Amino acid sequence: MSRAGSGVSRLRASIPLREDLVELAGYHSPQVSVEVRLNTNESPFPPPASWLEELVSLARQVEYHRYPDRGYVALRSAVAAHHGVEPEMVFCANGSNEAIQCLLLAYGGPGRTAAVFEPTYALHSHISRLTGTAVHRGWRDGEFAVTRECVDSVLSSSAPAVTFFCSPNNPTGRSEDPEVVGYALASAPGLVVVDEAYGQFGRWSALDLMGDAAGSAGERLVVLRTFSKTWSMAACRLGYLIGPPEVVAACDSVALPYHLNSLTQAAGIAALAHVEEMEERVALIIAERERIERSLTELDVETWSSDANFLLFRPRSMPARVLWEALVEESVLLRDCSSWPGLEGCLRVTVGTAEENTRFLRALARILHALAGPTVDTAAQSTGGQEGGA
Ligand code: PMP
Repeated sequence: MSRAGSGVSRLRASIPLREDLVELAGYHSPQVSVEVRLNTNESPFPPPASWLEELVSLARQVEYHRYPDRGYVALRSAVAAHHGVEPEMVFCANGSNEAIQCLLLAYGGPGRTAAVFEPTYALHSHISRLTGTAVHRGWRDGEFAVTRECVDSVLSSSAPAVTFFCSPNNPTGRSEDPEVVGYALASAPGLVVVDEAYGQFGRWSALDLMGDAAGSAGERLVVLRTFSKTWSMAACRLGYLIGPPEVVAACDSVALPYHLNSLTQAAGIAALAHVEEMEERVALIIAERERIERSLTELDVETWSSDANFLLFRPRSMPARVLWEALVEESVLLRDCSSWPGLEGCLRVTVGTAEENTRFLRALARILHALAGPTVDTAAQSTGGQEGGA
């Protein structure tokens, strides 16, 4: 080992990691080289060609020796116009994950709590912990719905500074009940954040509650959106939140200076001129989701109906991990959720192109028919859950 190398390892040994981070595993979706990738809820379609042309033209106008527009005024106004809200109600970030991080930097932190309803998007808890925010885990009911009772149970034992909903919920696929979100807004002491990363696939938007939520309740509602899914722009890393101007100002104040680079800003501005194409893509994905859903009901799996661009299912006749591996052998990659809280034995499939979905369904049918034994070994199911490390 070189002298520089041993110096680095000595340094590592002598500076302990923040204690509350030691147990925290990073959030990763294992990537395997396959032909059909249906594991990270991206859009299977690239953005429109005209969007790319426009982006190239905007990229030519950027003054690369200057910092970007710190207040990203044009993008902020375009997002605000798209939703019919004031620009002061829009905070943009490098993916909605960064918007979540800014919210928690501003409103979470030591001595404060964020509430989540499991099973749900792991990053709500993960980023909470990274920011030193305690996590209170509530639970959805047997059908993965948050009910008034779930809300009451969380609020009777904690006073969360931030309460997260996810609509449609990742990874279970269902939209939250608007009545329950309204109930939480009326009863939760802090911010109520509705993560709508998959909002355009869903049946309603919490943005509809923004006007209705009178007085202080309206001042506590925050809605998260992203360009990563419905806008086919995961590579651009652009997301945003819509909320009260005070919350937006707080997020602006904790974000790093010039956090949003000029190309990201340009990509978002160009995208918002392509709403129709985005909606066409969403319609195609919904039609394919319905086809997958119908096909799954004919196989030996338990499924849940979805309002998103993915579906959760649980094989009845074999452990999820065994099925996941068999699908990888067929060059189809899904997300193994079987080790996640409340999701024993479950896999999640992202809706792909028609061809990809057909390949997935054929491979699944083949494996289930070939490998399924006559009896279901529930012990094996739960072992599969434990094996399926994230
Ligand atoms: N929220 C939910 C529910 C998600 O599933 C994701 C992506 N997996 C995100 C937020 C983050 O999206 P991004 O940071 O790409 O905008």
